[in-house]
Amino acid sequence: LFVTFEGGDGAGKTTQASLLEEWLTDQGHQVVRTREPGGTEVGVRIRDIVLHHRGHVASRAEALLYAADRAHHVETLVRPAIARGDVVIQDRYLDSSVAYQGAGRVLDADDVRALSLWAAEGLLPDLTVLLDLDPAAARARLDADDKPFDRLEAEKSEFHARVRAGFLALAADEPERFLVLDAARPADELAARVREAVGRRLG
Ligand code: C5P
Ligand code: MG
Repeated sequence: LFVTFEGGDGAGKTTQASLLEEWLTDQGHQVVRTREPGGTEVGVRIRDIVLHHRGHVASRAEALLYAADRAHHVETLVRPAIARGDVVIQDRYLDSSVAYQGAGRVLDADDVRALSLWAAEGLLPDLTVLLDLDPAAARARLDADDKPFDRLEAEKSEFHARVRAGFLALAADEPERFLVLDAARPADELAARVREAVGRRLG
């Protein structure tokens, strides 16, 4: 089973991925917890390039770097784990590319999706949890948590509004794959909804 968490910065993806990992592990499942960008050694180098030069990398180059990270990650880590029968829990996947590079950087969403699918050889998640949150609320959350550097500061608020709308449009296109949750709700309530959706797919 392949489960991805999507949403803007500060929406609580990492928290929910951890809670799901704990629950599945307690149930005796083999879980592989990973993320994009940066789920492999090569990916960490790519993550370094895109995030340290954010706003100064040409949009198409940025899209290709994320796609390169994804191609290596899927082939060397994600597919082998799925083939073993493990549950893969992943922080961000190709929907992030469509939302950030497509909607955010205003590249053509279909092009970005096609590029991502090519990179991943067509691998789609069984379940994608979209943690939807107003960017202003996300910013307040990151500030409150005193995150070492405020990632949201790196982009204008219109950028984050486009990203949010991009994610919601993706979810509307594929309602069976997506579980859209209001990320402003308490973490334990969200975790219960995620467990229910994952449990159903585990059969
Ligand atoms: O902590 P996280 O891995 O989510 O941080 C990655 C950063 O890269 C985020 O701030 C996100 O805005 C950005 N990103 C992006 N395009 C992607 C994936 C992530 O701009 N496709
Ligand atoms: Mg995170």
